[in-house]
Amino acid sequence: MKINFHDLQSSYVKYKEEINLAIQNVLDSSQFIMGEQVFNFEKALADYLKIKHVISCASGTDALLLALMAIDLKPGDEVITTPFSFIAAAEMISLLGARPVFADIQADTFNIDPAKIAEKITEKTRAILPVSLYGQPADMDEINQIATTASQQFTRKIYVIEDAAQSLGAEYKGKKSAALSDIACISFFPTKPLGCYGDGGAITVKDDILAEKIKSLRIHGQVKRYQHHYLGINGRLDTLQAAILQVKLKYFAEEISLRQSVAHHYQQLLANTVVKLPFVKPDRTSVYAQYSICVPEREIVINYLKSKNIPTAIHYPQPIHLQKCFDYLSYRLGDFPIAESMSHEMMSLPMSAFINKFEQEQVVDALCEILTTSSSRGYVKFA
Ligand SMILES: *Cc1c(COP(=O)(O)O)cnc(C)c1O
Repeated sequence: MKINFHDLQSSYVKYKEEINLAIQNVLDSSQFIMGEQVFNFEKALADYLKIKHVISCASGTDALLLALMAIDLKPGDEVITTPFSFIAAAEMISLLGARPVFADIQADTFNIDPAKIAEKITEKTRAILPVSLYGQPADMDEINQIATTASQQFTRKIYVIEDAAQSLGAEYKGKKSAALSDIACISFFPTKPLGCYGDGGAITVKDDILAEKIKSLRIHGQVKRYQHHYLGINGRLDTLQAAILQVKLKYFAEEISLRQSVAHHYQQLLANTVVKLPFVKPDRTSVYAQYSICVPEREIVINYLKSKNIPTAIHYPQPIHLQKCFDYLSYRLGDFPIAESMSHEMMSLPMSAFINKFEQEQVVDALCEILTTSSSRGYVKFA
């Protein structure tokens, strides 16, 4: 029996009839671009998040690009972000000619450390872009406060843009991730907590004027047909994907609680081992986009699990400041020690709403076998 790392199939099978019907309706209408499902889904997601504006787009990466274009990010500007994440945020900042300024992470949550953000603020800072990694919101109150203080100091607006690609559905002090800052960016990549069947994304924004601008930017900066006020992109969400997401959003809360039960079971099974488990702060929840743990001798552990047919992944094997594409920024090894050491220790276990307890026990049994064996061989030092 094969354990899936993400179980996309079970999720489809569960909602199959409804999803097939939703797809059929789009096919019958032929409204493949900006059909009514796009607007209906935006409205449903805005209601779910309890916010005014949700603007769907073609991917999480486009959401980041559109958000940064909307605030007029320009060459010479700086955006403070995390070195320990998927590359998209730092990449989009750089594509616009601005500089990603990294601030190291917290060793317990793996999210950007607000105390280290504060040290990086300069007169060039235009935005702070925290990522709510692995499904847990970053310290958004502290980060918003830093931005407010800096905005007053430099008498210009410094935006907070939450990269909520992994954290949709998570809560922070009773509010939802992606509704915690000026702007937030969401991804509907198939393996994200709310995934569609291709690429998709969305931006949430509080300000009415910015919302109009982002709607325009996603269609070539168009304000009316063939009237272009800005240089934009072709960044629309397909009607087919919106139709699928409308169905999946109805069951999203239920899927999140299943994911949380799976995480809870892993936590019980792994409680008395050397494995460092995910730590979620008491004032928030995680949707466990990944169930990522720290283990000693990661390569040995991963290879052993692989030999037992158990898939794993590494989020992320190389911190962003050390990626080749960022050589020109002249960061060096040693600049962000926590991010660097986590990139050697983290690994992610199979996680989905549909993995069962028996499968989880197989994963943990294999993990414990190799941790015990390698410790007796002197590879692993028990805490
Ligand atoms: C997946 C992801 C993105 C990019 O989303 P796409 O939809 O794949 O473009 C951005 N940031 C983070 C943290 C992600 O996990």
